[in-house]
Amino acid sequence: MPLRPLAVLMMVLAVVAARPALADGHEKDKRPNIVFIFADDHAYQALGAYGGYLQDVVRTPNLDKLADQGMLFRRCFVTNSICGPMRAVIQTGKYSHLNGFLVNGNRFNGDQQTFPKLLQEAGYQTAVIGKWHLGTHQAPQGYDYSEVLKGQGPYYNPPMLKDADGTGDNKQRTEEKHTGYTTDIITDLTLEWLENGRDKGKPFMLMCQHKAPHREWSPKPEVYETWKGVTIPEPQTLFEDYSKQVAPRGNQTMSLQKDFRRGYDDKTNGWAPGNLTAEQKAAYQAMFAEENAAFEQALPSMTEEERVRWVHQRYVKIYLASIESVDQNVGRVLKYLEDNGLAENTIVIYSSDQGFYLGEHGWYDKRWVYEESLRTPLIVRWPGQVEPGSENGDIVSPLDFAQTFLELAGVERPADMQGRSLVPVFKGDTPEDWRESHYYHYYEFPAVHMVNRHEAVCTKRYKLIRFYKATGNSKRVQENPGYDAWELIDLEADPLETKNFYDDPAYEDVRTRLHGELKRLREQYKVPDAG
Ligand code: CA
Repeated sequence: MPLRPLAVLMMVLAVVAARPALADGHEKDKRPNIVFIFADDHAYQALGAYGGYLQDVVRTPNLDKLADQGMLFRRCFVTNSICGPMRAVIQTGKYSHLNGFLVNGNRFNGDQQTFPKLLQEAGYQTAVIGKWHLGTHQAPQGYDYSEVLKGQGPYYNPPMLKDADGTGDNKQRTEEKHTGYTTDIITDLTLEWLENGRDKGKPFMLMCQHKAPHREWSPKPEVYETWKGVTIPEPQTLFEDYSKQVAPRGNQTMSLQKDFRRGYDDKTNGWAPGNLTAEQKAAYQAMFAEENAAFEQALPSMTEEERVRWVHQRYVKIYLASIESVDQNVGRVLKYLEDNGLAENTIVIYSSDQGFYLGEHGWYDKRWVYEESLRTPLIVRWPGQVEPGSENGDIVSPLDFAQTFLELAGVERPADMQGRSLVPVFKGDTPEDWRESHYYHYYEFPAVHMVNRHEAVCTKRYKLIRFYKATGNSKRVQENPGYDAWELIDLEADPLETKNFYDDPAYEDVRTRLHGELKRLREQYKVPDAG
């Protein structure tokens, strides 16, 4: 093996070349900064630049501008459409079954390898501000600075946990009280860290993570005021007939008709978050008072269909108004970067932990492998590298983010990460052997919203979905283990995903091919047998 030492030397040289002027105090480190702005449950159909049936009512001018200046990804597929698990996938670059965080309620093992730890080792400053939601009792590890919401965090007046010494333990962790609207506060803290918190001689990776637009969708009164009188277009599947669908679709408890809660969800009955000041509470109740009074008056004579339509209008308006505040705050961060000479050498990435249903299939919430919750927004601005106003249709995933950030910092990919760096894709140079299929696996059942366990293989056109029963001796599992079922989706023939082609003889070849692909992906990603 005479060439081996030379090959090793070449690799070392390549890595050294990718890390210019590491903190020697004389030459400025030119590696790009990374600003990762992350929303919770932001549906792509609620982001103007994505177009779609809601585009005439969605208000995201700052995100639309970011897309004009960068690249918009049409197929950013999550691996497990639920909050905590996707955050763990992003931290580790590994699927849920390997990072150990399969369902909300698990606790993330922060001792494992994560991308921010590797960035720190490579000389990056790292910070996370806002939602963490990984169930850890210690401060986030791998960050020079963290100030995070406790658990889910409220829409107003959030207590936040600040790790002042950045050691990732609880030695100097303090609880900070804040009064105001959480989306604004997270941004205030983000700008404060950019201005006064960071070491301006170093490149940085900053995660600004919003709670919004997660349930319970509480907008600011002055924003919601401007949504009164707006009519939200309805999705074609608002009144889907589950009896014609694969069994798990009828078993869920996330339907606007059956499950959307009076008060807490629809803001009737004078409901308000429990932690508001008297003044905030009065303003909160006042923003819905007039519409609610009209609804209560009309309700006795409403048909069930009319009532569902009203619920849908209310739901999507409070959701979109919550997003409008996220968008305004994205604008504040972008303006800061612009005003402070940081825009040129900073990659800005906007994404969400998954998508969301806004009445499609009659649902709210997420979890399924169907389009609205499989796809999540991804917009990337990188001046001089990403072509402004470009779109990408490759299958990419938040699974790829860790390796992407590492490549940006010139750090070699750890062999056990399971995604792929998006850096060449950003540059419009997708490798020839880029993935043509994606592996998906949702585990959280029986649980809130009762979405059956399922795994799937997704291509640009098809999805082969295997639903499987939960096992175990708990009373809950015994009472409702869910279903074993197969479903085959053809997005070209049926973009609304209301038909199951699994038993259609015309799809025999497709089905066989996808079964093979599912098997191959399970082996590639080391998925243990389930169900
Ligand atoms: Ca989420």
